[in-house]
Amino acid sequence: MSQGRDDAERQMRFIYALRSHGVTDPRVLAAMERIDRGAFVRGVFAARAYEDVPLPIACGQTISQPSVVGLMTQALAVSPRDKVLEVGTGSGYQAAILSQLARRVYTVDRHRRLVREANEVFAALGLTNITAFTADGSFGAPEQAPFDRILVTAAAEDPPGPLLAQLRVGGIMVLPVGQSDTVQVLIKVTRGETGFDYEELRSVRFVPLVEGIAQDD
Ligand code: SAH
Repeated sequence: MSQGRDDAERQMRFIYALRSHGVTDPRVLAAMERIDRGAFVRGVFAARAYEDVPLPIACGQTISQPSVVGLMTQALAVSPRDKVLEVGTGSGYQAAILSQLARRVYTVDRHRRLVREANEVFAALGLTNITAFTADGSFGAPEQAPFDRILVTAAAEDPPGPLLAQLRVGGIMVLPVGQSDTVQVLIKVTRGETGFDYEELRSVRFVPLVEGIAQDD
């Protein structure tokens, strides 16, 4: 079979897996069709980039499962004029998907190396509306706040206060919360005029949100 047909078939399977897990928003599916997950997975795992599984990346972290990326992005209901904050850059894949749907994406990771490598991929793909930086993302990005949307891709016990404070009224934050590595639930927080509304979406498994900037890379 020709390379082109192999690629097309792989792409069809990738999109089919997303749909069968409930990713149905056409704009999210289109973004995930455009952004090549293979660009964000390095080394021996690159061959598995199109499978619907999480995979190891540098610094002992993981690139999330594509269907989970799709469901989180869908739950975030991003509009083209939105300014979005992602906490947990990791490989940069989720930020790249968001960059297709939002006006501007800020993404933060506590590992310098992950931020550097993600920036290389963003440049290679010509994604110019993403700013990646190294910091403890629990504190958000006060200089850029408020945000229309916030997505956290590491699990905390509770939604961090600074992130709630940096969410615009009418804004949405999606994040995994849980007290252990094994029992976590994805929640959607909507900020109203008078308070926050919480909705549980599904159970998930993410790496933990860790305090401080990593000193080992
Ligand atoms: N969204 C990523 C996957 C994230 S894995 C992707 O698309 O590939 C979770 C990431 O959260 C890891 O890279 C980890 O370093 C980061 N992280 C954990 N605690 C953090 C914190 N306090 N601030 C910023 N990043 C954090």
